[in-house]
Parts: sequence; C-alpha cells; structure tokens
Amino acid sequence: MRKPLVAGNWKMHNTLEEGRTLIAGIKAGHVPDGKVEVLVCPPFTLLYPLSTELEGTDIKLGAQNVYCEEKGAFTGEISPVMLKAAGCSYVIIGHSERRHVLGELGDLLHRKVRVALAAGVDVIYCLGETLEQREAHRTEAVVEQQFTEALGDDVDPRRVVLAYEPVWAIGTGLTATPEQAQAVHAFLRAKAMGIWGREASDNLRILYGGSVKADNAASLMTCPDVDGALVGGACLRAESFLAIVGAAADSV
Ligand code: PEP
Repeated sequence: MRKPLVAGNWKMHNTLEEGRTLIAGIKAGHVPDGKVEVLVCPPFTLLYPLSTELEGTDIKLGAQNVYCEEKGAFTGEISPVMLKAAGCSYVIIGHSERRHVLGELGDLLHRKVRVALAAGVDVIYCLGETLEQREAHRTEAVVEQQFTEALGDDVDPRRVVLAYEPVWAIGTGLTATPEQAQAVHAFLRAKAMGIWGREASDNLRILYGGSVKADNAASLMTCPDVDGALVGGACLRAESFLAIVGAAADSV
C-alpha cells in the first residue's frame, strides 16, 4: 500500500513572516492521521527558520532545487548537504519551470538526482509534456525520455517519488482529466517496472501536479496510480492545501 504524499511547491512566494503565517495555518488545521505524508517546499531562505517551526509535527520540509555538487566554487548555488543540514527530507528536481525557464537539461538533472541521494535527501522528480507535444501524440515518448535521462538502475527507487506534471496544466487552471493522468501514471509505473522490477514499481509513488485544487483533488486521487499531488498555487493558502491533504486521506 502506497502512502499518498501531498507536497506544496511555494515557488518564489512568501517572505519569512508570510511563510510563518502559512505554516501556522497548516499546523492549526492539520490533523496527523498517518495516512498522508505532508511536505512543504518553501524558497531556500525560509528553509532553516521554517524547519524550527515544523519541529514536533509530522510535516516535512523540502527544497525546490539543488546544485549537482556537494561543495565548491559555484556562486549562487545550494548543495544537497546544505539542504540536509537545513532540515530538508526532499528536493524537487526537474520541475518544468527549471527545464523551460532556466534551461535545465537531462545531463544536469541526472547529476542532481545522484548527488541529492548521496547526501541523504530524497528526490521528487518531475516530468511532463508541453501542449504541443501532447497534441502531437508524443506524451509517452517525452515522459519516457525524461524518465530514463535522469533515473536508472543505479538509483534506489525507494528514495524517489515521480511527479507527472503536464506543462500545459501548471499554473494555467487547466487540469488533466483523471483519465489522462491515470494513463500517464500507469505508463510511468510500467517503465519503472522495466528498470527496477515489480516490487519497487508497485511501491513507487507517482504524484500528479498541474492546477490541483480543493475541488478537483478528490477525483484525481481516486485514480489507482495517482499517489498524491504536487501543488503550486493552491498550497499558498492553508485552507486549500489542507483540503487537498484531506482528499488524499479520503482516497486511502
Ligand atoms: C507546480 O508548481 O508544481 C504546480 C503544479 O503548480 P500549480 O498547482 O499552480 O499548477
């Protein structure tokens, strides 16, 4: 049985005070029931101070990005060792905004995955097609390439979560239908089985991301291969984030 994960990607939002207020709201409304893993991914500057706010709760902390080296002369970058020391359990790698806005390519993502895992930080690896690619019926080819360029049999699947995030659904208000999401998730699980075997692929969590809201989360979570959500816009308000956590709990 896979435990759903609901992860909030704050992106480049919130000062420390705003972040503290949001965390206080999440803590106030969150009833830990052990059914769902809850994760918040604030900007780098908030990680350490918010880690202290999360002490004594079951809410985990993650980062939105990492560099592919442990340390060195890489001005402006943050290493996985620093993330671990700041209290992070997870890091998001391969988010479409980093692929498409910052130009990150497969080789870099491949290195990031390995250096994060070596430092003891688990990986949420994002993949997804653009609208143009979907309309050209290339969705499966695109996500397969994104999968194999960064993951492989040298990676421990127990320390990886996939997040299928169609680019056309991120921040647009458009959401994949449950049928569209399920089809890609099932495809990804089959790919995972080819690399890691049945037991690992059965245990692999595959999140859906792309305009998940309180009112569409439940239908997405009922899909057999959807194991939670990576949430952008709706995670910036405690009420909507908690409603998505609730939908994940109800799906178990
Ligand atoms: C995301 O940033 O990963 C995301 C899915 O954003 P949104 O929920 O706003 O579409």
